[in-house]
Amino acid sequence: MNDTVEPLAAASVADPSAVAAPLFAWWHANARDLPWRFGRTTPWGVLVSEVMSQQTQMSRVVPYWRAWMDVWPDAAALAAASPAEVITAWGRLGYPRRALRLQECARVVAGECADELPRSYDGLTALPGIGDYTASAVMSFAFGMRIAVIDTNIRRVLSRVFTGVESLGGSAKPAERDLANRVLPADAGESVTWNQAVMELGALVCTAKSPRCDVCPVSGLCMFLAAGRPGLGERRTRPRQRFQGTDRQVRGIVLDALRRLPAGGGDGGGDVGAAGTMPGVPSLPRAQARQLWADRAQLDACIASLDDDGLIEILPDGSLRLPRA
Ligand code: SF4
Repeated sequence: MNDTVEPLAAASVADPSAVAAPLFAWWHANARDLPWRFGRTTPWGVLVSEVMSQQTQMSRVVPYWRAWMDVWPDAAALAAASPAEVITAWGRLGYPRRALRLQECARVVAGECADELPRSYDGLTALPGIGDYTASAVMSFAFGMRIAVIDTNIRRVLSRVFTGVESLGGSAKPAERDLANRVLPADAGESVTWNQAVMELGALVCTAKSPRCDVCPVSGLCMFLAAGRPGLGERRTRPRQRFQGTDRQVRGIVLDALRRLPAGGGDGGGDVGAAGTMPGVPSLPRAQARQLWADRAQLDACIASLDDDGLIEILPDGSLRLPRA
């Protein structure tokens, strides 16, 4: 990485090609060697990585992605799995509804698209659970097409470098989309590298709270640095929610207990064993489920919400299990 660089005057910036040169050099030297990068997986593998990486750090995703793709390398394989297996394999990635949405997507791709992801933005966004970001990422990273990918990291970096101000939180604004499209290289191959490199810079160097401008490859061209980094630390996004004691924690505890039930049981033994395939989808008696969390009202509400979300089943005797179908 570069040594400390003196910021230039703002008048010398805003040429995307001038930014691309040092950015691409940095990318080639510093890009993380993630298994879904550099053409080493299928478009479906790229999609799985993108869904898993939403709201979860990429470094945490890697072992889950590898195990997942070993078992379900394509949409047809995932479509044929039981929801219980899918939820179990999702493990501690968090926000487990994503797992069921991914399986819904797999069923459509396997059943209606001959097990191939559509190669168009409209085709991708028509799939269950695939929004603008994921469709754009698959178009760019899997199919090599020229399309601006717009996520939080990219918005932050582009806004800082080319406008000198912090990106607002919330959904992407039209002006941010316009900027992302304007600065995207015209060449399709370069546009893919640009998307990946800007995103990686946002993840590793130009972070939200502590940008490392002293080692940044584009520091000499950054309007935000030239302006003295106005408003840094005054982000307008929501503060990080505490986790302890939240419904999210309780839901995770319940799901984890069900994942860990010995496979092939069915009598709901409370002994917590290793996660694995579960042909019989064992169940957990409600009396044992009540031991999972002290606040009964919160626990019952979380169990009900997991049932509403299709992540668990409540059997007639009140016991709980992961869904079979
Ligand atoms: S790390 Fe600093 S110099 Fe680099 S893009 Fe971010 S704000 Fe600009």
